[in-house]
Amino acid sequence: MTTAPSTANLDLHLAPYAAHSTGTRGRVHAEAASSSRSEFQRDRDRVIHSTAFRRLEYKTQVFVNHEGDLFRTRLTHSLEVAQIARSIARNLRLNEDLVEAISLAHDLGHTPFGHAGQDALNGCMKNHGGFEHNLQSLLVVDELEERYGGFNGLNLTFETREGILKHCSRVNAAALGELGRRFLEGTQPSLEAQLANLADEIAYNNHDIDDGLRSGLLTLEQLDEVPMWGRHRAEVAAAFPGINGRRAINETVRRMINTLIVDLIETTGRNIAAANPKSIDDVRSAGTLVSFSPKVHEEAQALKRFLFRHLYRHYLVMRMSAKAQRIITDLFGAFMQDPRLLPPQYQASGQGTDQPRLIAHYIAGMTDRYAIREHRRIFAVSESD
Ligand code: MG
Repeated sequence: MTTAPSTANLDLHLAPYAAHSTGTRGRVHAEAASSSRSEFQRDRDRVIHSTAFRRLEYKTQVFVNHEGDLFRTRLTHSLEVAQIARSIARNLRLNEDLVEAISLAHDLGHTPFGHAGQDALNGCMKNHGGFEHNLQSLLVVDELEERYGGFNGLNLTFETREGILKHCSRVNAAALGELGRRFLEGTQPSLEAQLANLADEIAYNNHDIDDGLRSGLLTLEQLDEVPMWGRHRAEVAAAFPGINGRRAINETVRRMINTLIVDLIETTGRNIAAANPKSIDDVRSAGTLVSFSPKVHEEAQALKRFLFRHLYRHYLVMRMSAKAQRIITDLFGAFMQDPRLLPPQYQASGQGTDQPRLIAHYIAGMTDRYAIREHRRIFAVSESD
């Protein structure tokens, strides 16, 4: 006779201060435990099967989806974040399933066209409660996904939702009850949430260098002024004399990612040893424990400043951002002026969600290419339409 596997065993290797799935604060709608998967494995699987997750393939951060097949999309970005976060979590005996669930879900609420899209939609919603992509990610998993018979959203655990909500204004936090409390009280989320946040930074700083060079918007000469790049590029030249081109770039970037990961593991390990938390509750009331060493933190900041100056503010990126702003502002204006242009499920019924918020949900859910096509469908006059 075989006994049913106990999911409690899945937590045995974890540190006492990790998020244990058996100790979860649970889901909004009570569900029977799975016989084969931990609570956080289930969360991750629900994210992967969601509609919003598949849309990430056609949403971008810096480069718009049609600009090239080799640039990162939000989907590949999220996979890189999950990979980095899991490596670190395993070293620190934190919950890999939870960091994976948080990482894969962290960008689900992003608008089309990255930050330009977010800023434009927030501007449109200025007099209607604003728009914040991080809060939207939470709303996607809490409300907007329609997959289950018994409830809206994905009904994820408190810990995954806590990790998705990286930052939050006091006004919004006050409306979120238990989940928003830490923003009002200044306490910390789980180590897994703190970790997913920094894994996001490691991923985008490095892949934006890679994509920036690939696109020709950044040059190797410019990058020489960045200490972290210079240091690793010199190491690569010493290890492989004569190496150049893509192979030299890739070897340098992978070493930078490794340095950041190793530094984060070592520094966080020391922070944990010093604070000596005995449980996840101790973690929540301690200061920030997941961090880089001061030296690596400074180098990472210098890299960010470089990317901001030379890539995110590059005139070709600014041109695309201006177009993105116009597309989103035009669409929002047209739908506000005549909501009958909206698909029926986004037309306000007079009860429940108001019209501006429904328009924001519709626009935020669009992929880059869908937004471009929708703009054409609404504004372009041609015989074929
Ligand atoms: Mg991200």
